[in-house]
Amino acid sequence: MEAKKAPAMVKKMFETGKITLVDPDTKYRYSLTAKCPDDGEYADVARFDKAGNTLSRVVFKCVQCEEEFEVRQDQMMVI
Ligand SMILES: [Zn+2]
Repeated sequence: MEAKKAPAMVKKMFETGKITLVDPDTKYRYSLTAKCPDDGEYADVARFDKAGNTLSRVVFKCVQCEEEFEVRQDQMMVI
């Protein structure tokens, strides 16, 4: 599965405080991901903070270089 820009899904994840979201049609579970600023590899979520029921901060960890990084919400993707 290719990562894709899906601003509405990312927004919904933030609003619901979850780092995954199930597509109601396909039942596929999407996860937040982002491209590593150093090498362009996709990264998994390392940890996240919540403010009430919403996500306030998501930290990614690159699978390639293992660096942790943060990106703006509009740079996040789903996979
Ligand atoms: Zn990296």
